[in-house]
Order: sequence, then C-alpha cells, then structure tokens
Amino acid sequence: MTPASQHLPEGRMGAMVLRRTGAPLVWEERPLPQPGPGEVRLRVEACAVCRTDLHVVDGELPGGHLPIVPGHEIVGRVEAAGPGVTLAPGTRVGVPWLGHSCGQCPYCAAGRENLCDAPQFTGFTRDGGFATHAVADSAYAFPLEGFDDPVAAAPLMCAGLIGWRSLRMAGEGRRIGLYGFGAAAHLLAQVLRWQARDVYAFTRAGDEAAQAMARRLGAVWAGASDAMPPEPLDAAILFAPVGALVPLALRAVRKGGRVVCGGIHMSDIPAFPYSLLWEERQVVSVANLTRADALEFLALAPRAGIRAQTTTYPLTRANEALEDLRHGRFQGAAVLVP
Ligand SMILES: [Zn+2]
Ligand SMILES: [Zn+2]
Repeated sequence: MTPASQHLPEGRMGAMVLRRTGAPLVWEERPLPQPGPGEVRLRVEACAVCRTDLHVVDGELPGGHLPIVPGHEIVGRVEAAGPGVTLAPGTRVGVPWLGHSCGQCPYCAAGRENLCDAPQFTGFTRDGGFATHAVADSAYAFPLEGFDDPVAAAPLMCAGLIGWRSLRMAGEGRRIGLYGFGAAAHLLAQVLRWQARDVYAFTRAGDEAAQAMARRLGAVWAGASDAMPPEPLDAAILFAPVGALVPLALRAVRKGGRVVCGGIHMSDIPAFPYSLLWEERQVVSVANLTRADALEFLALAPRAGIRAQTTTYPLTRANEALEDLRHGRFQGAAVLVP
C-alpha cells in the first residue's frame, strides 16, 4: 500500500475521522487548514494510538466534539506558522493530549494548567493526528531536537508524559508497582531502572508475553494483578482502566503508600474495607499534563535512553490499530504513519 499522503492533490489533506461514536473511523480529504494566530500547521510524521483514543471512539468521555480527528501523540514537522509563532518551519515537534490552556483561570494562574477550566484536548475537542496534517497551538508543540525517529518518539507524547506525571505523583519510593504493562508502563519501567528503582509489573493473569517483556525491561518481579508482590510496595501506578485494581493495589502498598490512577477513564471501583486505606494509604488520580512535565520528560528521555517498542500501521488502517489495542494484540505502542 502506498502512503495515504501520496494520493492527495496539492492543497489537500487526509484524515481518519470519527463521525459518530461507536462507529469506525472514515477516511476524509479536506482542504489544508491555515494556522491562526499562535498556531502551527504540521505535516504529521507519526501519531501513536492511546487507550484514550479508544475511550473517545467508544463515546466514554464527556464533552468531546464530533466529527473529530482522533490522535494526541503527534510527531510532525512545522510546515506553516500563524502570526506570533517563533517555531521555525521544518522544526520537528511533538503535540500531546492537552492542546491548549486558557492562561487565565485560577488553575492556570496557579501553575496547574493540567486542570484548566477551559482547556482544549487534541483529538477530542480539536482535531488531532490521525491525519496527514494537523494544526496545533504552538505553546503546546514541543521541539523534539534529541529525537531522530518520529515513530519511536510518538508514544512518548502521552504514554511517556502521563507515565512521568504519574511517577512524580507516586513519590520517591524505591519499590514501584505498575498495573497494566502496556505503552505507558513499558516506557516508565525504563525510567525507573535508569533511576535505580525496582519495578514490580502486574499484568492480566496468564499474560506471559507482557510479563516476559517486563522482565526484559528490568522488572525485579512480574506476576498477575491479583497476586501479592514479594515485598510491600512504596507506591503503585495503575494504567489498566480497571477499577477492581484499586483495592488490589491498596493491599500491595505499605503503610503510607500511594496508589496513583494514571488513566482518564476507569470502570467503577468496587467497595472495599476501610482497613485497606487505613494507615495513611492514599488513592490519587493524574489528569492531563503541564508543559513543565513535558519539557522535563522530553529532556530526560534521550539521556535515559528510553526506547519505545512500536508496531506501525499505515494511517488508513487506524481502525485495525484501535481494535488490536482493544484486544491487546501487540506489545508496547501502536503508531500510525501517513
Ligand atoms: Zn493518551
Ligand atoms: Zn485555564
């Protein structure tokens, strides 16, 4: 199959569009959009597929726009810039889930733009990267100078960043449990090993492939999510969207330990005895990211030698990538290439 972008006439772009939740994405050709003030138009080089894209497609998140081009782990080159943009044409940048913050609400003013009252989300409330081209707020387009492979860099833009913010939330403990060993955990495990911390990987019972991958990436222990680790954990981070993991993780952390929920959506958390929370254990969630998180992680990733394991799909096969993610048919991260 020849790349989708090669079929396009001059001045046109192509995108995989969600017209109705629950329905497959549809290929559409559109006029090339012009970037407004403060915006850039990117020629997309790669866009990774995230579990949040599945939640968007399935209609599980409130407040999304339709039709919408999903995709919020974009790597591309600046092709055109609107007024007031300092990014030079040709610069390779990455665009994450939080695509715009208002800069004026109490959260933005307090440096907590991840909780902005008037945010825009890439691939959810503004068109994203399952496309040959995308327009982004240049304030949320991060230069990727240290990265020579756009496919390997794409999963860093959400799986990497959310993993990093979740780890910051988990604290400085040595023994960190990761529940759900997919795109985010396989990157975070590399960060943890670089920091000389111990990774305990929890997967679906019997998922030998994921457990083997975790051990390959340096996990000191890998097992089923309902198993107890050999030592109590200092903190646990949940990437699997399964509420039943919360009491299991609380049982696995020590007194004063934290359970961090890293996903945007989760099935209901079942009732559990207060004794699991007692002794100052905490349950917290992570929402979105700040630009400071992104700059910090994108500077650290090349130094730590973080490598994403990827499976690539042509852009026009986005539906297949989403279904393979839904059914856990690959390890690491899926990446669409126009
Ligand atoms: Zn994501
Ligand atoms: Zn705001």
